[in-house]
Amino acid sequence: MFKLPNLPYSFDALEPYIDAKTMEVHYGKHHKTYVDKLNEAIKGTEFENMEIAEILKNINKIPQDKKQAVINHGGGHANHFLFWEIMTPDAKKKEFNGKIAEEIKKTFGSFENFKKQFTESALKIFGSGWAWLIVNKNGGLEIINTKNQDSPLIENKLPILGLDVWEHAYYLKYQNRRPEYMENWWNVINWEKIEENFNKTKK
Ligand code: MN
Repeated sequence: MFKLPNLPYSFDALEPYIDAKTMEVHYGKHHKTYVDKLNEAIKGTEFENMEIAEILKNINKIPQDKKQAVINHGGGHANHFLFWEIMTPDAKKKEFNGKIAEEIKKTFGSFENFKKQFTESALKIFGSGWAWLIVNKNGGLEIINTKNQDSPLIENKLPILGLDVWEHAYYLKYQNRRPEYMENWWNVINWEKIEENFNKTKK
């Protein structure tokens, strides 16, 4: 059965960019509900002991009556697991560097251009969803969006950076100001972790 993973920092650690109350509800209520409902859906099935990434990559093997619940809650669990880890209060010590920096510059021309394209992509999401930097099947980087809690893993795309643009991720502090939330979010990015995620996709 799945468990709510530990949050790698305290609720107020990402202040002032992401406020403590949002973190508390987002992690403690929203993410917890995804974990609970995922467990409910796979209880007593062969998927109970699989890793979440494996489950999502094999989503078509899930019985029809449970499939949508696993897409929603399994995706919700995997997406948030990644989201907490790619943020840090020590962003200044985990700067844009290494192989991932080289690859981003190669693909998008510059960091500024990558940030611009990622932001534009995220702003286009109508309603709830995620913006992602993923590694595609050819090993290349791509910016994509997904709706609701759909995980890129379902399409065999490997997410290494993700931005939650559900209103629950920012509404308490930013209300309808999604662009301001997105702009501030760049101040808490853990590039060291993204580099690690990137290297894992090469194995
Ligand atoms: Mn969320």
